[in-house]
Amino acid sequence: MASSFPSVQQLAAEARRVYGQVFGGDAPQVAVCAPGRVNLIGEHTDYNQGFVLPMALPLVTVVVGSQTSGQDVTIVTATEEADEPRRVDFSLPSDGSPLSPGLPSWANYVKGVIQHYRAPPVPGFRAVIASSVPLGGGLSSSASLEVAFYTFLQQLKPDDGDKVSKAVACQQAEHTHAGVPCGIMDQFVSVFGREGHALLIDCRSLEATPVPLADPGLVILITNSNVKHSLTGSEYPMRRRQCEEAASILGKASLRDATMKDLEEARARLDDVTYQRARHVIEEIDRTARAAEALKRGAYKEFGKLMVESHNSLRDLYEVSCRELDELVSAAMEVEGVFGSRMTGGGFGGCTVTLLQAHAIDRTTLHIQVRVLHFNLRHGPENYELRTCSVQAFTVDLFCTWRAF
Ligand code: ADP
Ligand code: MG
Repeated sequence: MASSFPSVQQLAAEARRVYGQVFGGDAPQVAVCAPGRVNLIGEHTDYNQGFVLPMALPLVTVVVGSQTSGQDVTIVTATEEADEPRRVDFSLPSDGSPLSPGLPSWANYVKGVIQHYRAPPVPGFRAVIASSVPLGGGLSSSASLEVAFYTFLQQLKPDDGDKVSKAVACQQAEHTHAGVPCGIMDQFVSVFGREGHALLIDCRSLEATPVPLADPGLVILITNSNVKHSLTGSEYPMRRRQCEEAASILGKASLRDATMKDLEEARARLDDVTYQRARHVIEEIDRTARAAEALKRGAYKEFGKLMVESHNSLRDLYEVSCRELDELVSAAMEVEGVFGSRMTGGGFGGCTVTLLQAHAIDRTTLHIQVRVLHFNLRHGPENYELRTCSVQAFTVDLFCTWRAF
C-alpha cells in the first residue's frame, strides 16, 4: 500500500514542461525547491513559544521561472489538487504600495512572500509551481510554497541571506496574505531541515538543535486520511486566542512561561475550555522536550508513548482531532512493532505519523488498510454526515529526508 511520490528531479521536469507549454520560448533560468515537513511531536506549541520536533520530508515544492523586463508577474501551478484557476497574472505596484490579497487564494501565499521579501523591489517574473506535498494535509504545503518562492526571489535579486529572517518573512506572508496566524515551525523547518535529522526548535529563542534520526531499524510511516483541513477557518485562530487569554489570566507573556502548578492555582479563574487548552499546551511543551531527549538516547518506546499521549491530549483537551485521525492512530497502535502514533499538523483532518520497527512496516500498513475498510463500511457514503477516510501511506527514508538542488 505504501505509495511512492515523484522525485525532485521529476517535479522539476514537470514544471519545465508546463513552463514551455504556457510561455514557449527559452527554458526557465532558475529552479529551486523547499520541503514539506512532518511534525513528530509538539503540536500547537509553536505559537505559544514552546518546543516542536519536526523533520523535513522528501515531499517538496519546486518553482521554476525567469525574470522578465517589466513589472508583470505570471504564475502557474501545475498541482492538480488546486480547485481554482491555476494561472494568475498581476502587476507589481511601482509606487511601493502593498500587494493586496485576492483570488485565486493560492496566489496569496506568493503575494505575501513578495510583500515581505527583504530586498524590495522585486522584479517581474514568470514561474511555474509543481509540488508533491499534499495540499491541506498537515504536511505543510503552504510553508514549502512560501520558502520555495522566497528562494526563487533570492535567485533573481539576492537579499542578505539571513536564514532566520527568511523563515520569519515567510511566516509573515502567511499571516498577512493568507490570513492564517500560524507559528514559526513550518517555515523554520522548511528553511533549516537537514538530511537524516529531526529538528528540535525552541520557538522562543529560535534556536534549533538537529536530532539524528537515521536508524536503519526504524521507519516513519505517514498516513493521509485525505480529510481536508482548512486552517484559514475559524478554529485555528480561536485556539490561538484561547491560549493568549489563558496566558494573560496566568499573568504570563506566553504559555511557555507557565507551569502546571501555575495553571492549577489559577483554576478557579479559568473556564473549563480555556483550562483544557492551556493544559494541553503546557504539558505538550514539556512532552516535546522529553521526547527529543528520548530520541537522542534511542529510547523509541518512550518516544512512542509520548506520541500517543500527545495525540490523546490533542483529541481530548485541544479538540483538534477527528474520527478519521483517531481511527488511524488506534489502528496503528494495535500492531506489534509500532512504538507510537499521532495526528500531525494543525488537525481537523490531514495525516498521522507513526514510528515503528522497520520489519513491521508491511503488516502495519495492511492492518491500517483493513481497519479503514471497516471504518468506511460503518460510516460510509450512506451516512452523509461523515466523511470517509481513504488512506495513502508512505514511509520516509530516514537516510535521505530531502535534498536541495
Ligand atoms: P498545509 O500547509 O498543511 O498543506 P494549508 O491549509 O496551510 O495546509 O495550506 C494549503 C494551501 O496552500 C492550499 O489550499 C493552497 O492555497 C496553497 N498551496 C500549497 N501548495 C500549493 C501548490 N503547489 N499550488 C497551489 N497552491 C498551493
Ligand atoms: Mg500550512
